[in-house]
Amino acid sequence: MREVSEHQEKSIHVAGEWRTAASGATREVLDPADATILAVVAEGGAEDADAAIAAAHEAFGNGRGPWPSTPVAERAALLRRVADLLQRDREELGLLESRDAGKTLEEGRVDVDCVTDAFRYFADLVVNEGGGRVVDAGSPDVHSVVVHEPVGVCALITPWNYPLLQASWKIAPALAAGNTLVVKPSEITPLTTIALMRLVTEAGLPAGVANLVTGPGDPVGARMAEHPDVDLVSFTGGLASGTKVMRAAADTVKKVALELGGKNPNVVFADACVTAEGFDTAVDQALNAAFIHSGQVCSAGSRLIVEESLRERFVAELARRAERIRLGRGTDPDAECGPLVSAAQLARTEDYVASALAEGAVLRAGGERPAEPHLRDGWFYRPTVLDRCHRSMRIVREEVFGPVLTVETFRTEDEAVALANDTEYGLAGGVWSSDAGRARRVAGRLRHGTVWINDFHPYLPQAEWGGFGKSGIGRELGPAGLAEYRESKHVYQNLAPRPVRWFKG
Ligand code: NAD
Repeated sequence: MREVSEHQEKSIHVAGEWRTAASGATREVLDPADATILAVVAEGGAEDADAAIAAAHEAFGNGRGPWPSTPVAERAALLRRVADLLQRDREELGLLESRDAGKTLEEGRVDVDCVTDAFRYFADLVVNEGGGRVVDAGSPDVHSVVVHEPVGVCALITPWNYPLLQASWKIAPALAAGNTLVVKPSEITPLTTIALMRLVTEAGLPAGVANLVTGPGDPVGARMAEHPDVDLVSFTGGLASGTKVMRAAADTVKKVALELGGKNPNVVFADACVTAEGFDTAVDQALNAAFIHSGQVCSAGSRLIVEESLRERFVAELARRAERIRLGRGTDPDAECGPLVSAAQLARTEDYVASALAEGAVLRAGGERPAEPHLRDGWFYRPTVLDRCHRSMRIVREEVFGPVLTVETFRTEDEAVALANDTEYGLAGGVWSSDAGRARRVAGRLRHGTVWINDFHPYLPQAEWGGFGKSGIGRELGPAGLAEYRESKHVYQNLAPRPVRWFKG
């Protein structure tokens, strides 16, 4: 908290300087646990976006600026210094993320560790891959090589649910590849991105390479997406904003990467629950899939698709345990779930639950705000289980982004696959079965970017993350997560040039 409050109204970072908004406007950042003011930050506008893009453009210097010209080993060393600084400030950053985004302190700390891993992963990746790829042109007189170059100025736009993590998944590969950038965090949760920018500067990144504008999606994000001097826009957020970003980027033919929402199935076969231990594990992980960070996770397992014969036993236990989840502010050591991030997110969740009940869903747990007086001022909502749901319900098709789990059932493997794929999204899904062949078969048929077998939620920095369908375009993490931030250039050198005589005259 100390770090940010020093700079609270100078949260815009352009060409190495901390600034207020050009207009002087500010925004109050609220603590979702009690709606009190956590910080006041600059409310940037289009002018601030323009200034930040100009700084990044100049620092890129058409690929000849100091950062794109820095040897790969030195770029990697800087990323490793950022990783070390993240670990040095782990407690402070974890606490800041917990307070800003409303997640438990332990989740905040885990986020810092994951982000540290991402910086280290991209550092290792760029130094270990070697430079370029020699292509056999079929002639000893030709030397042909494909090299990678940075794309240029990258506009990075992030959401509020994993602010530090989403910013890092973009900043680390963008810097590793030699780009310059402007990052715009969600206006709801900008604090850890501001702190990260300070660490990147402390690690020795040259001024102007990484710039930050705090402010709303429109105009700041919208300006970044359309600006002619931006070469790439990488956006994580909701489907509605993502499609606007893609349209805005079209006129200047920017590279576009989109990480959007999900409506993620968690498919449970009865054979996973034959033993008491298997049953306990599948229920426990279904709770984790749906309710961690109060369901405000793009990969939340918000659709339980359970074999009909297991339904009653499974849902009864799930509902019993959901009712016992302890809510509280992230810093409360007894809290297992924090609040929703904003009053709007709470209202949205309440609206979805009301519509599901009106459409015939059966409430098995939650379905209301908690009654405890100490939770009254925050945006808390009880973990909710809705049974007897079906595809025609809005709540089964659309992303709620709250602590709400819907239950559908199947009788056959084909039916399970059809239900799991019956979504316009395709981000992630889980399959639970003690039959390894069946689990692999079903995983192979799911049209989702990540499939977990007998697990839910883990990801690895070495493995690509992203979605099929309307869950997005492109990938983060893994080698493809670095490739997003690069152009390939084929250099074909003729060692013995002669006339071709195509034209005879
Ligand atoms: P959002 O779309 O409202 O906002 C995301 C970001 O985009 C914010 O910084 C916002 O200010 C900005 N923005 C809004 N309108 C814009 C515009 N017209 N042009 C440019 N930028 C604009 O999303 P949110 O509510 O902050 O986040 C929740 C969403 O993010 C969910 O749908 C969730 O599934 C998704 N998400 C996806 C992933 C993933 O990896 N696929 C990860 C986290 C969150």
